[in-house]
Amino acid sequence: MERLHIVGQGVAGTALAWQCQQRGVSFRIYDEPRASTASKVAAGLVTPIAGQRLTLTQGWSFLPEMESFYRDVSSLIGTTFYHRHETVRYLANEVEATRWKKRVGDPVFEAELLPGAPSLASAAFHAPTFGAFRMKRAGFLKVNAWLEASREWFLKDGLYEETRMTLDDCDPAAGTWVFANGPWLLRVAAFDWLPMRFAHGDILTLSIPDLGEETRIFSGTAWLLPLGEGLWRAGSTYEAVGRPETQPSVDGRAMVEANIQKILRCPYDVIDHVAAVRPVTLTRFPTMGRHPGKAHLAWFGGFSSKGVLTAPSYARQFLDHLLEGLALPDEVGTL
Ligand SMILES: Cc1cc2nc3c(=O)[nH]c(=O)nc-3n(C[C@H](O)[C@H](O)[C@H](O)COP(=O)(O)OP(=O)(O)OC[C@H]3O[C@@H](n4cnc5c(N)ncnc54)[C@H](O)[C@@H]3O)c2cc1C
Repeated sequence: MERLHIVGQGVAGTALAWQCQQRGVSFRIYDEPRASTASKVAAGLVTPIAGQRLTLTQGWSFLPEMESFYRDVSSLIGTTFYHRHETVRYLANEVEATRWKKRVGDPVFEAELLPGAPSLASAAFHAPTFGAFRMKRAGFLKVNAWLEASREWFLKDGLYEETRMTLDDCDPAAGTWVFANGPWLLRVAAFDWLPMRFAHGDILTLSIPDLGEETRIFSGTAWLLPLGEGLWRAGSTYEAVGRPETQPSVDGRAMVEANIQKILRCPYDVIDHVAAVRPVTLTRFPTMGRHPGKAHLAWFGGFSSKGVLTAPSYARQFLDHLLEGLALPDEVGTL
């Protein structure tokens, strides 16, 4: 069977590699070590109802396939990476509260909710002025743990190489070379025409002793994710930038803190601040395909803020396309 060479071991490349493994497609994955990538800093959140418009998350129908995908990898490796967690959503203002009233009673939304209002009686939280609701099928992937365990798994089988790949390295006789290298895709001459952009995001790690044994995820204009032992991740910002590498931003930190303080009223310490660039598209759907003029090259990227939820299903469909000639879903068609 055709050999696939996957350039980039972020969420996208790793999902593609596991889909190859599961269907017996021979592959090799290459990754340039970088301290800060979207996948390395991502919180890994998967949330059914998101955004100011309070709509069902784009790609939500992929949830069952996503959960079974991470479960299968977990069974093989022997570690659980994806965890369901109740998520409490604070409504941010009157507009959101009005919007939410229209959703209540709609079976599509009701299916995602836990009954009753969230208990926010602790002195650590602000009472939700505009209301709040509870989501049951939310969760998060321990992204870094999943990436590291996957890398070790592939390395043990001689399928992983730590190296920076260029177009000159892509021998057409060796098979298909899939660039799944996040925002750096736009820096590869063969793919600089793709309709992708860069979106910087800041994330903080907080120590919040007053939250004690709390295990719920909180979201609103910002979110809070429990890491255990009094530590929480808080984020994030979304800012268009002109390059794939950025530094943590002072303004970004201030914005995350201001938004977190709309949920929290207890003290906290910021113990870490990281940032990275998301590979995004104008449609917010990912982009993938075979290069129109160079058949040995392909690309798989643009996962925006939804890589954890959507990369496993799109990786499967992308392999159907590359290996069996099936059509790509309309929403990801770029050519
Ligand atoms: C602040 C922030 C918060 C986020 N939170 C969430 C969240 O809660 N939930 C969610 O689903 N998503 C979240 N995301 C988005 C998610 O991280 C992305 O959808 C996903 O990580 C994109 O993965 P990727 O593999 O396409 O790109 P990347 O993560 O950028 O990975 C690309 C990889 O390719 C490597 N590479 C680059 N060039 C080369 C080369 N020439 N040769 C070899 N290797 C190369 C890089 O080193 C890197 O390892 C967040 C992102 C940010 C920035």
